[in-house]
Amino acid sequence: MIQLIRGFKDILPGEVELWQKIEKTAVELLEDFGFKEIRIPIMERTELFARSIGEDTDIVEKEMYTFPDRKGDLLTLRPEATASIVRSYIQHKLYAQDPVRKFYTIGPMFRRERPQKGRYRQFYQINAEIFGVDSALADAQLIFILATLFARLSVTDVQSHINSLGCPACRPNFKQSLNQFLSGVKDRLCADCNRRQIRNPLRVLDCKVPACKEAIEGVPSILDSLCPECHRQFEILKNALERLDVPYIVDKRLVRGLDYYSRATFEIKTGLLGAQDAVAGGGRYDGLVKTLGGPDLPATGFAIGFDRLAELIADSKVDNARQLDIFVASLGEKSRALAFEWSCAFGLAGIQVEMDMSNRSLKSQMKRANKFAAKHTLIVGENELEQGAVILRNMATKDQVSIPIENLVENVKAKLAV
Ligand code: ATP
Ligand code: MG
Repeated sequence: MIQLIRGFKDILPGEVELWQKIEKTAVELLEDFGFKEIRIPIMERTELFARSIGEDTDIVEKEMYTFPDRKGDLLTLRPEATASIVRSYIQHKLYAQDPVRKFYTIGPMFRRERPQKGRYRQFYQINAEIFGVDSALADAQLIFILATLFARLSVTDVQSHINSLGCPACRPNFKQSLNQFLSGVKDRLCADCNRRQIRNPLRVLDCKVPACKEAIEGVPSILDSLCPECHRQFEILKNALERLDVPYIVDKRLVRGLDYYSRATFEIKTGLLGAQDAVAGGGRYDGLVKTLGGPDLPATGFAIGFDRLAELIADSKVDNARQLDIFVASLGEKSRALAFEWSCAFGLAGIQVEMDMSNRSLKSQMKRANKFAAKHTLIVGENELEQGAVILRNMATKDQVSIPIENLVENVKAKLAV
């Protein structure tokens, strides 16, 4: 028997209602804040991700699903959405009328990581991006939206961690003092970190190996190296969050694995998910639009880990699963043909319906109606048809009424309303 690919999963009925609820809540909120949906492809040229995410990142180094197609073009299943949204923003000149644009997208991402709880090879993200605003107020709005979304979904154990990554003007200063510090603790760092220290020292701050975390306990804070403008923008962010009553933690070790981030960077963490504690991450990536061949326009955004968010609220009851309104039971060929037509008419009228399409006894059809937890059963038999009426049985009270066949859907609707 053929099984799922490792690290992939099915989201089955029973679970999917929760996913629908999260998606609906997020979409309503984002649209209220002026974000428009954009849908981008699941595959892009490998080059797009290599250039935007950066060759030295875990994602590009070892996590991408990359393969040549039949003509030899190198393609990659998207590991994240930002690169594609930026490509689209540039390709369709979405900045032409107004550089300020807000987009969101929801869909699957692919990374070949070691599968474990909260870490899959196909996972889902909810992304939001704001283009064309260089003020940290845009970053504050994104963090506010995240905090509001979690509150609306009754997720309480979440904290917003923020940091600034500086800009190309001040980051080199920090990298220098960071390198100095790292040279001093070199022997205590893992092999990966020793390699990173040369190519991308910021990434050492992000290492998850406990010994590395300990070794860099006393690392200097990038916040002490910020240029005046980066410092001012970080103050704007903090003040805005305070005025919006969004608590935050300044975390000097918070950096993003992606090269194009600058200034504000943030992560929403929870104490409820064990090792995979980040439910959302984001920040400013002012250099990316230009790097990918577009105009020099700033941008900022976030990605929510949909799977982790769903795990956070999996235990709470979701009652948006609809209960079946009517089960149509029929006896005999002629009745069944009519029952089928009426079922379609009920469905069209927004009445949730099921019927038995095979030739079961009335008793077993009633059993199925109970199994579906149908509110009513409509019983259609040859006798009833002769009398020009069918029987509607209320499954809870067991009351039965006769309903004229003429204008059946209307008649049933009227009965269901009471
Ligand atoms: P992590 O540090 O957990 O590997 P990341 O920094 O790689 O996360 P981002 O690229 O910032 O993650 O993606 C944003 C969010 O997407 C993460 O905060 C997380 O919730 C989710 N996410 C990332 N990778 C996975 C995965 N393999 N499976 C499930 N969710 C994921
Ligand atoms: Mg990762």
